[in-house]
Amino acid sequence: MILPIRIIGAGLAGSEAAWQCARRGVVVELCEMRPVRSTPAHQTADFAELVCSNSLKSDSENTAPWLLKEEMRRAGSLLLEVARHCAVPAGHALAVDRNTFAAKVTEIISREPLIHIKREEITRIEETQITIVATGPLTSDALSREIARLSTNPGEDPGAAPHLYFYDSISPIVEADSIDMSKVYLAARYDKGTADYINCPMSQDDYDRFYDALVSAQSVEEREWEKLNYFESCLPIEEIARRGRDTLRFGPMKPVGLRNPRTGQQPYAVVQLRQENLRADSYNLVGFQNHLKFGDQALVLRLIPGLENARFLRYGQIHRNTYINSPTLLTDTLQMKRHSQVLFAGQICGVEGYVESIATGLMAGVHAAALSVSNEPVPPPRPTAFGSLIHYITKADPRRFQPANITFDLLPPLETRIRDRQERHRRQCQLALSQFDKWLDQIGTTAAPIALK
Ligand SMILES: Cc1cc2nc3c(=O)[nH]c(=O)nc-3n(C[C@H](O)[C@H](O)[C@H](O)COP(=O)(O)OP(=O)(O)OC[C@H]3O[C@@H](n4cnc5c(N)ncnc54)[C@H](O)[C@@H]3O)c2cc1C
Repeated sequence: MILPIRIIGAGLAGSEAAWQCARRGVVVELCEMRPVRSTPAHQTADFAELVCSNSLKSDSENTAPWLLKEEMRRAGSLLLEVARHCAVPAGHALAVDRNTFAAKVTEIISREPLIHIKREEITRIEETQITIVATGPLTSDALSREIARLSTNPGEDPGAAPHLYFYDSISPIVEADSIDMSKVYLAARYDKGTADYINCPMSQDDYDRFYDALVSAQSVEEREWEKLNYFESCLPIEEIARRGRDTLRFGPMKPVGLRNPRTGQQPYAVVQLRQENLRADSYNLVGFQNHLKFGDQALVLRLIPGLENARFLRYGQIHRNTYINSPTLLTDTLQMKRHSQVLFAGQICGVEGYVESIATGLMAGVHAAALSVSNEPVPPPRPTAFGSLIHYITKADPRRFQPANITFDLLPPLETRIRDRQERHRRQCQLALSQFDKWLDQIGTTAAPIALK
């Protein structure tokens, strides 16, 4: 007998999980609360909405994000295929037109006969039904309480559940025709790859003026400021700036390798803008996530050369990021240790990033589909990117657990020591992919072509 699967959340992880279940012949009930109830970050009712940057990270061969994407491609990821279909120029990165991407995913999922869509906020998880919880960093409050209940032993206080969160922030977006193109230039760092980024060059005077305005601008919820627990790799610019006058010049405003063709010189600092959509009518300020008050934000950002008259389509914002303590709660097949029919996927299971969320959705879909036909789910091998990501979230120190992106640090070292970094990474990728192919054979999966028009 094939048991139906319930998936809660049709974001990145939930949409991919639903597709993986359906392509294995399993009936899915996909529950999405939008538009009935929205989140503070989503703006549409579409599935798989990208709420901030439009980048799915590096596509350069033998980098860790590439390896994860390559494994996903081999495993037949729907969302990755759609992303390639909606790609916009972004140098070495895979970036997408976010509207086309979400619309296409929604269309494909909606026309799949095995996927039944329910637009409703889910507040209860039935432990005996195969369920994938993929409600993301902005999981609704009622469901968060339910997850806390499932994470505690009977009689324990759910308020003390190993259930965590931190704060994260998003970057502003400007309209392309409000950028003064006479002051900016297109370039790729070190002239590598195509010159897809718009660079706003700053002299030392420009930088000083910008810096002083930034550190004196008002943040939203300023009194809460000290209490906020930020994710280190996604700090707001004003927080980076507070760490020292030059910290931004060594971070998101690093000018190295970005020679200005008009002057032949490297500027003192640079703000980079990345294309947002296929029409190239909007750009996001790379690494400029912040939580300044909107009025102050406009004043500060308009001090950037080229953005004096910028029109903002979205301002930087701050948001909560909910995730569970996976090392305590999950097995290496993303099942709850105490409720084996309940699986977690996406940002809530402790991965960080779009691609990692899609990847864990794919994996939870594969495992849930196995459970539905009474098969034992088989975890991916440790040397693979999938295996390493899942190894991290299930084996990290639970006391200091923080969500992670895929990096080579998560992959196991090779048996032989190779000093050359590039060669070492190439060999790690080669090993990972050969092991991944064997695993795909073992579980009987192929990258079935997906017809996209
Ligand atoms: C504001 C913000 C900015 C981010 N920026 C980036 C970025 O630039 N780059 C990056 O790589 N990652 C970013 N992330 C992190 C992460 O990659 C994204 O949040 C990603 O969308 C996570 O995918 P997901 O599938 O886990 O969750 P989501 O894509 O958020 O999907 C979860 C879905 O569950 C639904 N839902 C929630 N509760 C319920 C319920 N009770 N019942 C039914 N449905 C429910 C939501 O409406 C949503 O559609 C950001 C996160 C946030 C919140």
